[in-house]
Amino acid sequence: MSAEQLPLRTVAGFDFTQPPVFAVSLVLICTVVFLRYLILSGAYHFMVLKLRKNGNSKRLLLSHHNMRSQIRRELILSSVSAVIFGVTGMVVLVLYQLGYTKVYTDVREYPLWYLPVSIVIYLLLHDLYYYWLHRWMHSSAVLRRFHMTHHQSVRTTAFTSFSFHPVESLLQAVILPLIIMFLPMSLTAVFITLFLMTLSAIINHAGLEIYPLGKRFSFIRKNVIGATHHDQHHRNLKKNFGLYFTFWDRWMKTEK
Ligand SMILES: [Zn+2]
Ligand SMILES: [Zn+2]
Repeated sequence: MSAEQLPLRTVAGFDFTQPPVFAVSLVLICTVVFLRYLILSGAYHFMVLKLRKNGNSKRLLLSHHNMRSQIRRELILSSVSAVIFGVTGMVVLVLYQLGYTKVYTDVREYPLWYLPVSIVIYLLLHDLYYYWLHRWMHSSAVLRRFHMTHHQSVRTTAFTSFSFHPVESLLQAVILPLIIMFLPMSLTAVFITLFLMTLSAIINHAGLEIYPLGKRFSFIRKNVIGATHHDQHHRNLKKNFGLYFTFWDRWMKTEK
């Protein structure tokens, strides 16, 4: 059955193709995206500051410096990113209503084991897209014009996680609707993935290594990108382009 023949769905009784519903929802979703970023980043940043103040963590990557003006710039850029991510969220809702996505609301539609598997597949596809997008963004003209906005933060903070040039935010956002047009995902899995995306961006920028340091856990540090890995990218710009996993950096010999 083609998408045109499908009956129009609603989400919780709302028809997002109606302009007034779309407009109100857009304001709400942008606010929620920004508040989620602000609360998570703020809490994480506060924890890092506390550890730094107590001077008792070997996991801190950066020396103390005045970050007030940097954070102010990051918050302004992040508010624009939140609007772009909010617009993308609305696009996803409308695509879902029109039947163009593979998102399903009844988790029993697929076996339960598929829920975490779909999240892992999403993260692997996103990682593939981001690695090559990131490599391209480091070509000199694109770096100068767009990606340098993110790299203005050399000593990153939790607030750097959404701090991008609007063009870069848009390029990062388009992958979500693209993937869910082809990959079946439950709505729950989509929400978990969105949360993981935000959390991972905060973890990678906050200047605090959170993954276990022991030898027994070296496989985590070897394969999953954390603060130490991404910090190296902000310091030298020529290595460590991955997002969630180190596979692409290893295969393309760009890992430091
Ligand atoms: Zn970064
Ligand atoms: Zn970069």
